[in-house]
Amino acid sequence: MMNLKGEKISVIGAVRSGVAAAKLIKKLGGEPFVSDLDDSEKLKKSMTELQNINIEFEFGQHSEKAYDCNLMVVSPGVPTDSKVIKTAKMKGIKIISEVELASCFCAGNIIAITGSNGKTTTTSLCGYLFNHCGVKMYVAGNIGNPFSDIALDVKENEFVSLEVSSFQLDYIESFKPKVSIILNITPDHLNRYDYKLENYTQSKLRVYKNQTKEDYLIINKDDLELQKNVTDQLSRTYYFSLSRKLTNGCYLSAENIYYEEKGVRKFECKTGDIQLRGEHNWSNSMAVITAAKLFNLDNEKIISALRTFKAVEHRLELVMEINGVKFINDSKATNVDSVMCALKSFDDPIHLILGGQDKGNDYNQIEELVKKNVKQVYAIGSSSEIIKEFFSGKIDVEICSSLKSAATNAFDNAERGEVVLLSPACASFDMFENYEDRGNQFKKIIENL
Ligand code: ADP
Repeated sequence: MMNLKGEKISVIGAVRSGVAAAKLIKKLGGEPFVSDLDDSEKLKKSMTELQNINIEFEFGQHSEKAYDCNLMVVSPGVPTDSKVIKTAKMKGIKIISEVELASCFCAGNIIAITGSNGKTTTTSLCGYLFNHCGVKMYVAGNIGNPFSDIALDVKENEFVSLEVSSFQLDYIESFKPKVSIILNITPDHLNRYDYKLENYTQSKLRVYKNQTKEDYLIINKDDLELQKNVTDQLSRTYYFSLSRKLTNGCYLSAENIYYEEKGVRKFECKTGDIQLRGEHNWSNSMAVITAAKLFNLDNEKIISALRTFKAVEHRLELVMEINGVKFINDSKATNVDSVMCALKSFDDPIHLILGGQDKGNDYNQIEELVKKNVKQVYAIGSSSEIIKEFFSGKIDVEICSSLKSAATNAFDNAERGEVVLLSPACASFDMFENYEDRGNQFKKIIENL
């Protein structure tokens, strides 16, 4: 274990994980210095927090002082090709991520969850399920609760369900989860990886690079990119699949979900036992069931956890049912892929609220599904014209000047048994602070209907 006593350590980036890292360093007797290029309002909260605990910082620049160290902790938001990283490398400063730092001081078992989609849902479900089964598990990571904040609290026989992004994995060194779960790999954030899927994939696969035979790797058997690239078996590998029978892992067969170990069935339940909607969530749940069975958690308790775990906020979240109309908040669906998952998750006719800040969306991907499952589209935000144009002649599209008018009109048109779904396929920044703000406003509107 690293000894940080008296060590000068720079922390680059002063948002949540940066502040948490600095606090951890200080607790361990090190001397953190936090440096952020930004100096806007956004950092006000961080500033107060750092001042209150007497941690030195600078905003608006990376001065010489930021390089006066042997170790630098970089926050996930700092681009790999940024000047600060290049300079630090040139000066021979060791660079690590916040997750790497925290993991060095965590005595418990880490279940690391990564992938392109479903991380937050799976990480939360995992935490919920283990706790439900009587095993103490913390939930941390990208999910909004930095690992550094809790790392020291986790006891040897306890667990952490840890959401890790590829950014965090880019700068690990000794990070060694007891279990690594890779959910899927689809092109995302390629701007950080020289637009090469291969680089992005390799970054995700780093999650298991330090694992050994006493550890476990759980991967999605349906994911071609994973199949192609996971070739080295450093740890014990288990799979999950929606499409094929497995002898080491969890799979779907008709309406049933089975888990087998060396061909021996150890668990079964019905898809109907999973309260989360959609096949993508069966997949996420199978990853968690596999992890649970590796530690022999009780089958009845696992099933009761699956039955009671509710969607994470803003992800196919049921807001309310009014006059037989269900209102669903899927504000986190900021790309077309996510909307596709959402549309597949309902059997009833959908009134779909789409739009926001366009990210070069290709709606061809969902055209057939929209024609099949959607009754009417309500287009909002700066991409409303693009949406109207794309779907014109295919389905009714109404341009709405606000989220409120979209929700109200959808409610007026929806009949008993139908669904009003906010799954915008776009970023929120044209009308809202972020996707959480968009989802919260949607929920308020519904409550006032
Ligand atoms: P992340 O933390 O990786 O962004 P979330 O759990 O927040 O993942 O889910 C984000 C969106 O990704 C969801 O709204 C859903 O549409 C989609 N999604 C969730 N799980 C999967 C999956 N296993 N495969 C594909 N898409 C998924």
